[in-house]
Parts: sequence; structure tokens; C-alpha cells
Amino acid sequence: MRAAIVAIGSELLSTDRLDTNSLRITERLERHGVELVAKSVVGDDEAAIARELARRLAEAELLIVSGGLGPTADDVTREATAAALGRRLIDDPEVWRAIERRFASFGRVPSPNNRRQALVIEGARVLANPRGSAPGLRIEDGPRTLFLFPGVPHELDGMLAADLEPWLAARSGGSALDYAWFKTALRAESEVDGQLEPAYAEFGRERITILAGIGEVKVRIAAAGPEAERRARLETMGARVRALLGAGVYGEGAETTLEQVVGERLIERGWTIAVAESCTGGLLAERLTRQPGSSRYFAGGAVVYANQAKSGILGVPAALVEEHGAVSEPVARAMAEGCRLAFGTDLAVAITGIAGPDGGSPEKPRGTVHEALAGPEGTEHRRFRFPGDRERVRAYAAQAALEIVRRRLLGIGGAIWTEEPAR
Ligand code: AMP
Ligand code: MG
Repeated sequence: MRAAIVAIGSELLSTDRLDTNSLRITERLERHGVELVAKSVVGDDEAAIARELARRLAEAELLIVSGGLGPTADDVTREATAAALGRRLIDDPEVWRAIERRFASFGRVPSPNNRRQALVIEGARVLANPRGSAPGLRIEDGPRTLFLFPGVPHELDGMLAADLEPWLAARSGGSALDYAWFKTALRAESEVDGQLEPAYAEFGRERITILAGIGEVKVRIAAAGPEAERRARLETMGARVRALLGAGVYGEGAETTLEQVVGERLIERGWTIAVAESCTGGLLAERLTRQPGSSRYFAGGAVVYANQAKSGILGVPAALVEEHGAVSEPVARAMAEGCRLAFGTDLAVAITGIAGPDGGSPEKPRGTVHEALAGPEGTEHRRFRFPGDRERVRAYAAQAALEIVRRRLLGIGGAIWTEEPAR
């Protein structure tokens, strides 16, 4: 089976937004061994969309379309598809009632515009969209199948899992791909790559993919073949990767996050945590509280940007700031210890650094960040030199703090990426 993807939306042709939906769709196709022969982006223009669909239908048996199903006048995917297939659009009262019910669930009534979302292409199957008002459509056209999905990525994701995945699974004849993920924080990509050499040799480089983000290197392994075989292969490969990367792996699974793992370890220990943040301005507290149930271990945080706040709120001696500067080991330590006292927690982590672009000096260049973790067994400190612009330095700093906490909770030693030796 050959597939083509068409992403619809004029914003995708400008610099406003990048088409990311096709990547999510491609992932599903890959998993089921479906060959993707083309993907394209078309603006919200009925004639242009109809032309593009007709062209793709000539070369693929499966056509997956996203976007343009909204209620506004610029959303014309339904009309264009009907035109390309030479079918009529029919107002479906069942779909309209579902839209009304959805609006009623948050105390509103749909606007007259929404009525367009109840238009169904003749002969199409309506695909429920529990995350939004625009339903999707599946259309059989001779040997070909078209899926129309909403453009909102979160809505699309839900429907790919509920509608596309089972459809593909029923047709892939057991020749699917399965993946497993191993996530590491604050590791150099090249170092992870080096550690994986034996696995490349054993299983083939094309089966192992390294994906690097800010302070995060993900390893994805893939196995193909009939189900039992690929499951077994994934087990074997996974065990090897786990052994090679060791405690550097903070979690497994595509959706696992560092804050989630830290939260789980804190619950396991029965410990609480608080944070003191300067250059990250609350980013670390935000990360920690993203996790549902974080009230079980997260006590709170102080954003202490000004020196006065560091002293007044956390009791950092003004003389310490005076002598060493706000971005220094003694101040980071005092912030962590003061925070631990103020919040009465088991752990407290502090971040103070120079995110830039200004404020650097030869002695403390931009990207210099001091982090300290105070706990029952004392206080540890690390100095980092993170690369990149302000946003990246801040993201790295929050990520590093979480990794420091994780390591403390698991008793893992060793240096963290970009950490500078103590002086
Ligand atoms: P639509 O379904 O066309 O009304 O799109 C709804 C929202 O999803 C808009 O904010 C779009 O910018 C966004 N969106 C649509 N298509 C894509 C795409 N291919 N990739 C990422 N975002 C998209
Ligand atoms: Mg649109």
C-alpha cells in the first residue's frame, strides 16, 4: 500500500506555522510498513486542494488529509474533497446533535458557523473527534481510502490512535514496526552515540535512532516483522541498550518525562521538595507542577531575582552576595539551604546563573549557572556552562536541576554534561 499526506492550511505556507501533523501521521505509517510516496502542503483554496487531492489519488491508495475542517469560511477541505471525488455534501443531523452536545457540556451553544462542520461527504463514514468539534471522515473510493482529519495537533493525535491505527493494523498483515524509547538527560549526543556502538554492530545502525533535544537525548529502537518476533527482538535490543546506557537512562517510553520520574522517586522516598530560582524565573517549579499529583511532594518555590529577594526571602547573607556575586557557589548553596528551611522540605534545589545575552564577564561568561541541592545529608553544588541563547540556557538549567535531584534520589554519582570541575 502506498500513501500520501496532504496538510491543508494557508498558515502552513507562511512562516507562521510548520506542518508537524505529517510527522505524526508518518510515524503511524512507518509503524505499519506503509510506504509514503508524497507529502504536500496546500493553502486554504478550494480549487487548489481539489487539484492536489486528485493528483495524489492517482499515485496512492491511501490519502491522509489534515486541516481545513474548522467552522470558519477559510476551512474548505470538505467542499474540495467532495469536488475532487464528484460527490455531494449532505447535512448530517446526527453530527449536528453531537456538536450541540459537545457545546452544551461546557455551557454554550454552537454558532451558525459550526453548522458547516455537520456537512458530510456522501458515502463517508463519520469519525468522532472527542477532543474537538470537527469530526473526521473516512471515504472509500474504489480501491482507495481517504481520511480527513482535523488540523489541531492534539485532536489529530487522538484520532490517529482511535481511527487510523486500527485501520492500518487490520491491513498491515503483521508486518508492523514496533518502537521502544530510552531517555537520558544532560548527556552529550556524541557520548551516547559512542556508548551505543556495540548495539549498532549487533542490530544494525538503521534500527537505532538518536534524537537530541535541549538537555535530552532520546534513543529509539525499532523492530520489524511478525508480532511475536518483533516483540522478542525489541526485548533483546532494549536489554542491550539499557545495559550500555546504564543509570544514564532516566526513563523508558515516548511520553515519559524527567519531572514525572523525579516525582515518582520522591513519592517512593516519601520526600518533599522546594525550589529557589533566579535565572529560570519559575521554570523549574513549572516543570515540577506539570505532573498531576505533584502536590504530594512539591511544597513550593521562590523566584528570587533581585539580590534583596535572595536575602530577604531566603536569608542569603548580603555579605555573601557582596563578596562572591549572586552567581556563585556560596550563594547557590545558601539559597538551597535557606529554601529548605523556609519551606520545611526534605530537599531544596537552587538555581542562579547568567542566562544572557548580557551580564557575562570573562570570569563568569554567559551560560554560567550554579545549582545546589540541600538535603538531609548536606548540600551538593555543581557549576555548569550551558551553550546557546537565553531561552536554551534557562531550559538547560531547569533540566539539569531535575537531573541532579534524580541522581541524588537514586544515589548516582559522576559529572553531568557541561558541568565544570569544582574550583
Ligand atoms: P484547522 O483544522 O485547519 O482549522 O486547523 C486548526 C489549527 O491546527 C490551526 O491553529 C492550525 O494552524 C493547526 N494546524 C493545522 N494543520 C497543521 C499541521 N499540518 N501541522 C501543525 N499544525 C496544524
Ligand atoms: Mg485551517
